Amino acid sequence: MPLSLTGIIVSKGIAIGKARVQQHGQLDIVEYVLPEEYIEEEVMRFSHALEHARKQLKTIRSQIPGDTPRDIAAFIDTHLLMLEDAALCSVPIEIIREHRCNAEWALKLQQDALVQVFDAMEDPYLRTRRDDIDHVVHRIQQILLHEDHMPSAIESERNETRIIIAVDLAPSDLVQLHNHNIAAIVTERGGPMSHTAILARSLGIPALVGVPHVHQYIDNDELLVVDANNGALLAGLDEQALAFYRRQQRHERQAHRALQQLKGEPALTLDNVTITLRANIELSEDITAMRRVGAEGVGLYRTEFLFMNRESPPSEEEQFQIYRHTVRRLKGAPLTIRTLDLGADKEIVPDSSNCCTNPALGLRAIRLCLQEPELFLPQLRAILRASAYGSLRILIPMLTTVEEIPQVLGLIRRAKEELKREKKRFDHNVMVGGMIEVPAAALCADIFAHQLDFLSIGTNDLMQYSLATDRIDETVNHLFDPLNIGVLRLIDTVLKAGHRAGTPVAMCGEMAGDPTLTPLLLALGLKEFSVPAASLLEVKRIIRQSHFGKLKRQFSSLLHSENALQLSAKLSEINQAHKKFTSH
Ligand code: PEP
Ligand code: MG
Repeated sequence: MPLSLTGIIVSKGIAIGKARVQQHGQLDIVEYVLPEEYIEEEVMRFSHALEHARKQLKTIRSQIPGDTPRDIAAFIDTHLLMLEDAALCSVPIEIIREHRCNAEWALKLQQDALVQVFDAMEDPYLRTRRDDIDHVVHRIQQILLHEDHMPSAIESERNETRIIIAVDLAPSDLVQLHNHNIAAIVTERGGPMSHTAILARSLGIPALVGVPHVHQYIDNDELLVVDANNGALLAGLDEQALAFYRRQQRHERQAHRALQQLKGEPALTLDNVTITLRANIELSEDITAMRRVGAEGVGLYRTEFLFMNRESPPSEEEQFQIYRHTVRRLKGAPLTIRTLDLGADKEIVPDSSNCCTNPALGLRAIRLCLQEPELFLPQLRAILRASAYGSLRILIPMLTTVEEIPQVLGLIRRAKEELKREKKRFDHNVMVGGMIEVPAAALCADIFAHQLDFLSIGTNDLMQYSLATDRIDETVNHLFDPLNIGVLRLIDTVLKAGHRAGTPVAMCGEMAGDPTLTPLLLALGLKEFSVPAASLLEVKRIIRQSHFGKLKRQFSSLLHSENALQLSAKLSEINQAHKKFTSH
């Protein structure tokens, strides 16, 4: 009987292989009350277990293959650091002494307390950091109980690819398994932003998480298909279905190989027009993915994620350290740091009760920063200080009126003067750009283009505001249409204004990363794209097959279409012609 289970996709791809069901599940942790004279002995037992865990992790770290991305070692380092942290080193010892209990139980009490703090966090990224606590505590408890696990040593099966089925997997487990030819992982627990998920994406291993009771449904050695493009785990398939997935797998490998070959190739159109392809990042860690696809720097770094779910904003020093670290990792390629874009769906504290009547139209982004210089100035100072360590640009979100520009530039000047007085280094010529994501700004793009060094079109908000359609309300999702003629005319206005003023115009909204829209955007004259790393090579492929001049001519009548249907018909006609043209 065929079986199909669904899960959350954390790393795409198709894998076929036999199941390896990991049996390490819950440990049996019980409490013992210890006589006074055994307490110090118990403390020693705990300290030895910690030492043993450190040794294990160091061994795993030394086994990471040389070609593995450097961030992967960082995951193991995180666990090693946790083993040095007082929360896991000293507090359990205090609990052993205070409660006169066994080490396993003391560790469990401390784990429960730490996990509670993490569970209360709204940010899904931070919430998944509790996995790290679980993994490290689990490792120490196993040592204490003499149940050290090696993730099912599959030594004897080196030539056979395996699909790992587990309740949960620690990043260190995945590193070890990676040495053993694994085809995919499927787990019951975990989320798309867990370290293990990030790692699976980094390693290019198809992965599904959140598959309920998966290890109970699947038997060891059962032949499985993981279709991590559609979120399915399939078992018991007949030969015909297996042949279908083998074909899919072959096509995918071919397409992936072809795309990877484009990494070092220039984003050049057939008529030799150079296009700049940069990446959007949300976290400093995303630099690894952007480098893997050969992005020419970062076109949008959404810094608001640094400010969320914490009691107080990060200090100037904390921000400086992060920005400096990020710009250094880019080795001379530009880092475009967008200043705080808080508000609307990106609240500092979720569910904040003092919210305004219409958050998307309220005190958000640059409006908030101009009203609260004590929030904005430390960020500007941190960015400026980091500018001494690489190529850095400042991007201002949600500019609406031209009058906001001198106010922003005034604050940047003030931050520079302060730094000069304090003899702190910064790039005196740091470029300042503005996001064009409000229709009024798009219509005045000529004025913006003269007062700023560069512009970047934020199509997500530009669509939201020009179509009067809330970008997070699924009931009006159908109106959120990148082919709306009004939206395209606004984009056209901004690109032309930039061209006339000699000011570069990029696009960093999701539209830029949609390969089906690439010919249209080129035809409108867009030459700088900032896209999610995952879609960069596909966009590059389309660019390299495009003839900029021809597309421009074909599209010239497009903006005079009478409705979206007509435009869409014209567009698919041109896309078809483009396909035929490029296949010759
Ligand atoms: C945009 O609005 O297009 C944009 C890139 O910014 P965000 O999605 O962060 O609002
Ligand atoms: Mg925006």
